[in-house]
Amino acid sequence: MDWLMKRANTFAVRPLSDDGEQLLRDLLDASAALWNEVNYQRLMRYNDEVGFEGDVWDADTGQLEGRYKGVLGASTAQQVIRKNSEAWRGFFGLKQQYHDESNTSVTEHPEPPGFRGNEDDGRRLKTVIRNTSYTVEWGDRSRLEILVGSELKDRYDHTGRLCLEIAGNPNWPDYEKQGRLDLWYDETDSTFRASQPVTITDARETPLADETAALDIGANNLVACTTTTGEQYLYEGRALFQRFRETTREIARLQSKLREGRYSSERIRRLYRKRTRRRDHAQEALCRDLIVQLHEEGVDTVYIGGLTDVLETHWSVETNAKTHNFWSFKKFTERLVCTVEEYGISVEVRSEAWTSQECPQCGSTDRTTRHQDTLTCPCGFEGHADLTASMTFLERQTNNAVRRMAPPVRFQWDDHDWSESPRSHRPNEQRTDLSTVHRDGNVASGES
Ligand SMILES: [Zn+2]
Repeated sequence: MDWLMKRANTFAVRPLSDDGEQLLRDLLDASAALWNEVNYQRLMRYNDEVGFEGDVWDADTGQLEGRYKGVLGASTAQQVIRKNSEAWRGFFGLKQQYHDESNTSVTEHPEPPGFRGNEDDGRRLKTVIRNTSYTVEWGDRSRLEILVGSELKDRYDHTGRLCLEIAGNPNWPDYEKQGRLDLWYDETDSTFRASQPVTITDARETPLADETAALDIGANNLVACTTTTGEQYLYEGRALFQRFRETTREIARLQSKLREGRYSSERIRRLYRKRTRRRDHAQEALCRDLIVQLHEEGVDTVYIGGLTDVLETHWSVETNAKTHNFWSFKKFTERLVCTVEEYGISVEVRSEAWTSQECPQCGSTDRTTRHQDTLTCPCGFEGHADLTASMTFLERQTNNAVRRMAPPVRFQWDDHDWSESPRSHRPNEQRTDLSTVHRDGNVASGES
């Protein structure tokens, strides 16, 4: 079966010289300036300001395109304008949903498209390049070449396309075709970055065996996983949550200092973006890391449960709101399902039949207590709550008892990768006694 899927390669790029860097900055800055001019023309019309005729779509973008095509090249000038049009269409779509009472998916009044940067901080360097106006070459020395306008070439005495060196390897080196490239300067780590949308054909792998895995998705522990091969994985969320909370506090602090009548600033918006980007990066890496391991274990079916524990009693209302916002569970589940399917693994989400507090030893659900990560029962059971939950979930779905083969592997986020935490392996631990098979010692950590 031929199967087309949309993916994106995201990578850092480096200009080859100081002149090249300055040229690139000028290109991104002019793109942001064009965006701002188009947006201004449209916003004024949206607000019915005096002197601006017609509605949003009556703005004279052709005249702006003419002014910018010398610097940007005609195709890039067109793409920037088109992208702004898309942003406005998206805004009108959301606004319609917001005013539609039968639709509950949009609860806040949407804002019209914003400007790229402001007077205080300067413009946000960003552009968009048509699929035929750039080339990417993957290999030992991967390169990106982009079209630039004739005025910029003259300014820097440059000929041909601007060549940029690509750092790292793509997730999707083989693709049918490429889409419109996003190219921007990331102020958070002073790096130029690009995102290349690609269409790939059936890259799906086939499962190696017919094992099953069950995942418990939660807040403190983002994913607890048990497989029928007896492996357990735990992805810890505390370090990420900590960073999220620090950024949130910083946003609140900046908000409290805003002049009266102002609701946001470029610095605040930048922090929001940074917070979201960090989370998306961690989510994507988690999905991939986990699925690669499950694939190697020969898993062909994954059950996803949990989610309800996010709303359970051990979380205060305030914490709930924060963590909900923090990990964006719906989005994470969608991403996970998408990644699982890429590997030809089938996936079922079963959040309704969920009992995360069930004692695996005596089956009681109302006598158990959970304190931080530890689930205890008067019958003598004590174990890691989320790992236990994923194991009980797995046993229920497969109607088979699971025997754990090794201590759980724990992963922590270090801003780039999920790496095994030092607490992961305890080699002296013997698990031959069946009555302690589920036990996981005192693993609760200091989060309160
Ligand atoms: Zn019990």
